[in-house]
Amino acid sequence: MTQEFVDVLVIGAGPSGCVSASYLHNNGTKVKVVEKTRFPRLVVGESLIPRVMDHFDEAGLFPALDAMNFEKKLGARFIRGEEICVFDFSNKFSKGWDWTWQVPRADFDNTLAQEVIRKGIDLEFESEVLAVTFNGSDSITTVKDASGNLKEIHAKFIIDSSGYGRVLPRLLDLDTPSKLDPHSSIFTHVKDINRPEGEEGTLISFDILETEVWLWVIPFSNGNTSLGVVGPTDFINSLSKNKDNAEALKNAIQLSDYYIKRFGGVEFLFEPVKLENYSRSVKKMYGDGFALTGNSSEFLDPVFSSGVAFATESGMLSAKLIHRQLKGETINWEVEFTEYMKKGIGVFTTYVKEWYTGNLQTLFFHQPENPDVKRKICAVLAGYVWDEENPFVKKHDNVIKNMAHLLHLEKEQQGIKKPE
Ligand code: FAD
Repeated sequence: MTQEFVDVLVIGAGPSGCVSASYLHNNGTKVKVVEKTRFPRLVVGESLIPRVMDHFDEAGLFPALDAMNFEKKLGARFIRGEEICVFDFSNKFSKGWDWTWQVPRADFDNTLAQEVIRKGIDLEFESEVLAVTFNGSDSITTVKDASGNLKEIHAKFIIDSSGYGRVLPRLLDLDTPSKLDPHSSIFTHVKDINRPEGEEGTLISFDILETEVWLWVIPFSNGNTSLGVVGPTDFINSLSKNKDNAEALKNAIQLSDYYIKRFGGVEFLFEPVKLENYSRSVKKMYGDGFALTGNSSEFLDPVFSSGVAFATESGMLSAKLIHRQLKGETINWEVEFTEYMKKGIGVFTTYVKEWYTGNLQTLFFHQPENPDVKRKICAVLAGYVWDEENPFVKKHDNVIKNMAHLLHLEKEQQGIKKPE
């Protein structure tokens, strides 16, 4: 069997794997990426948030992405019947990028992977990890290539960025149930033949159909738009009697007063894909000789588009820590990796939960708007969830709940004061 020797083996060439591989390569580490599929491949996760730009920039991947003319995302719109709430990333509390992209991930991820290859990194498509054995922090990974041949890759460290492949969580029994309620989604792309001119046509929008059910509309610069419905698994399953995903998504679009005209009659570009009970979690995020990044560790919920940002955040951080460790430094992975990542995950977990309780929606749609509150929430939605100067980060546990409660009380009082 062929034997290969590298410093770091990265499993999976999604955004997480590409960012970590690129950083390590730029800093002189011998890194190899193995990817199970051949790109371009379909993957969900098309609405990015500004925090990712920090990572692509630092990894040296920004220019290649920028050259692709993906649709610029300057903010996000939330719709609830007649009520509209628009966040503008240039008007946020924390410092940082005020724009990002909304992207067909097949093209986006392929651009990343090709740039990684162009830099001289050994990225092998159609190479699937089958098994890993550890001897202390050293490992031997068995990989099957496109022709069915097996090889062994010896590495000093493994970054598992295999997404839903969850290679090491499966092999090392690290999976644990998510703390979030079971939610599912069905999505596809459409040719956006009724796209209106100007901002209305290109704005990313989240249309709330019921408190826990929403539709995403993500227009791309290639004229196509991604449509997806998200909700409790029972509700998503009830959208079609015969478990027909196309029928279910069509029925969901019918529920949207705002979008029924634009999308009611459009053809789907591919059979809608269902992602059932999509949240994931792990017992631990690292071990001797490995780190789990991106979806291979934790995935919460699509509602605030935090998936890719956590994938690149953890990819970049793990790469930096490994680089220091390989140079002889002792790294406290618990503090520098897990605790750091858990802080950000904790903030978004609260936001996701408070979205589905309806409390966050109360804040979003309250009139008149409170510009200060909005700037602070906007910073969170942009992914700057480690900025403890922001009370909507530091006190995330209580601030949304308490504020929604006060707004409800205020409304009740107004109701009492109203003349009969
Ligand atoms: P991936 O991008 O999934 O890449 C993992 C790679 O590993 C794949 O290419 C796979 O082929 C490869 N792989 C798997 N197994 C193996 C193996 N055995 N050997 C070798 N390679 C392997 N995020 C957002 O930021 N914005 C959104 O709008 C958004 N919407 C979402 C909607 C839904 C319904 C869901 C479920 C998720 C959404 N996400 C969104 C999350 C987003 O999809 C992920 O967080 C993101 O793609 C994770 O990136 P990654 O690099 O960790 O993994």
